[in-house]
Amino acid sequence: MSARKRVLVVGAGGLGCPALLGLGAALERAGASVCIADDDVVDLSNLQRQVLHRTEDVGRLKIDSAQDALERRFPRLAIETCQARVSAANVDRLVHAFDVVLDGSDSLETKFLLNDTCVDHGVPLVHGGVVRMSGQLMSVVPGYACYRCLFEAPPEDEVASCQDAGILGAVAGVIGALMAEEALRILAGEPALAGTLLVYDALRPESENRRLVKVRPRPDCDTCGTLSSEKRQVRVS
Ligand SMILES: [Zn+2]
Repeated sequence: MSARKRVLVVGAGGLGCPALLGLGAALERAGASVCIADDDVVDLSNLQRQVLHRTEDVGRLKIDSAQDALERRFPRLAIETCQARVSAANVDRLVHAFDVVLDGSDSLETKFLLNDTCVDHGVPLVHGGVVRMSGQLMSVVPGYACYRCLFEAPPEDEVASCQDAGILGAVAGVIGALMAEEALRILAGEPALAGTLLVYDALRPESENRRLVKVRPRPDCDTCGTLSSEKRQVRVS
């Protein structure tokens, strides 16, 4: 990994916290920087899976609490923060300058937005998600299937968000750590999950709790498809 790489972690919650912990030492050693984007405050009910935040941080901005926690552990790590919720209005500005983006958001709308924008800018994205006892991750990198190749669009009645459905903290920890590992692989030029969905199911026995699903790029994908390049140009301009 060469110096001055920049990593963006969207969301300093159940996925972002373990991902940041997993990234910290490697990025510090490499002289790389990390930016944490979130607009939320630390809430007592989420602390069991948001491992960077403490009880005394309740009410503080998650970006501030996460930054302090990382500084305690990785004093030479360059940390930036961005107090913002990812939206159509800011996503281009947010994403374009980074070498890899980790999606630890808890909204499907944000996940599609990050996917589309990262594909447009050619910025590698590590998608992560957890619901109840299972989780998934996938790398979106140029030349491979994207998140929209797989899911097309958010369902009309958005599926249960993390808050509604409940999450086992340990599952978020596993997925977040795997997201960090995959992001470091991307920075090293060796993604393991390019166009491949890893599905993790905590209810299954250890030997069979992970499945890899190869996702084929769809030529008619609205985001990355060769048949949809006109639409894409319209969105970029
Ligand atoms: Zn696609």
